[in-house]
Amino acid sequence: MTFRALLVDKAGDGTISASVQDLPDDRLPDGDMTVAVEYSTLNYKDGLCITGKGGLVRTFPHVPGVDFAGTVEASADPRYRPGDKVVLTGWRVGEIWWGGYATRAKVKGDWLVPLPDALTTREAMAIGTAGLTSMLAVMALEKAGVTPPKGEILVTGAAGGVGSVAVAILARMGFRVAAVTGRPEAADYLRELGAETIIDRAELAEASAKPLESERWAGAVDSVGGDMLMRILKQVKYDGVVASIGLAASATVPSFSVIPFILRGVSLLGIDSVMRPRNERLDAWSRIAADLPHDKLDDMIAEYGLSDLPALGPAILEGKVRGRTVIDVRK
Ligand code: NDP
Repeated sequence: MTFRALLVDKAGDGTISASVQDLPDDRLPDGDMTVAVEYSTLNYKDGLCITGKGGLVRTFPHVPGVDFAGTVEASADPRYRPGDKVVLTGWRVGEIWWGGYATRAKVKGDWLVPLPDALTTREAMAIGTAGLTSMLAVMALEKAGVTPPKGEILVTGAAGGVGSVAVAILARMGFRVAAVTGRPEAADYLRELGAETIIDRAELAEASAKPLESERWAGAVDSVGGDMLMRILKQVKYDGVVASIGLAASATVPSFSVIPFILRGVSLLGIDSVMRPRNERLDAWSRIAADLPHDKLDDMIAEYGLSDLPALGPAILEGKVRGRTVIDVRK
């Protein structure tokens, strides 16, 4: 038996290459579940793995793809039977374990969750790691007491994968959403997803010398990091909450100050999707199935095949990919 996969390899001179290849099944890692992958997706981290950047992939050759959805082919885990539809996100699959850019994957049963009844495998990957992480952030804001009457929520990197899903979920839940984007042409798309206000990235990109700015946001979902994160913290209302997801601009905050924390009681919550316990993933997926409007998903999706990935990897790192990119691995 063979399977088809995007194989990333590193030559002796350090050059990274990515190509679609047919491989024998015995090249798959040792998992207790074999899954016929139907869809995977493209996340920022996949861009790093496809291009060999960021030191995420340590062993070559490697099959990237940090998430996938498909059908169980064989199971040594009593919770699953052949024919079950399943979803995988996180657990460093696609980084240190062969991932979803393949027609077949072998993984551990603990890493899978059953596909919610309300979703197809394609919809699950339109949501993917980015959407799961957005939902985890929204649930963290809720748990911290942020509710629609408290005011507007700011979403940064809004036209990206995490941002797009966050805008759609928050709007559906009745929040007024302000979307920060560096792409003026994405304004109509973001309004369609439910954003009420569009903010030019340039307005928040530079550090501010002021210790605090006017109170504006009840909360924020930030996938950008850097000085923009600090600008947001300075603009969040008394007792407001910011969920930090990503580092699309920078992992460091040169202008960092504790003033918003100690004068306004602002909270900064860290969101990690990779190692979240299974029960939280199940909760988040059932909330996604209930709270993410399916019609909005269609607006976010562009669909490609395995052979498009060598070009898509660099594109997402350059911020050129809008919304969610679904990969039909059978194409
Ligand atoms: P995308 O590339 O799809 O989206 C990132 C968006 O950030 C871009 O679309 C762009 O939005 C904005 N952006 C890019 N560069 C800059 C910049 N220099 N300054 C300001 N804004 C910028 O990536 P994802 O949505 O998949 O991921 C977003 C971030 O979240 C990444 O850093 C990723 O690593 C992280 N992440 C973390 C997870 C976790 O578990 N914590 C899980 C998933 C992702 P626009 O065009 O609208 O300006």
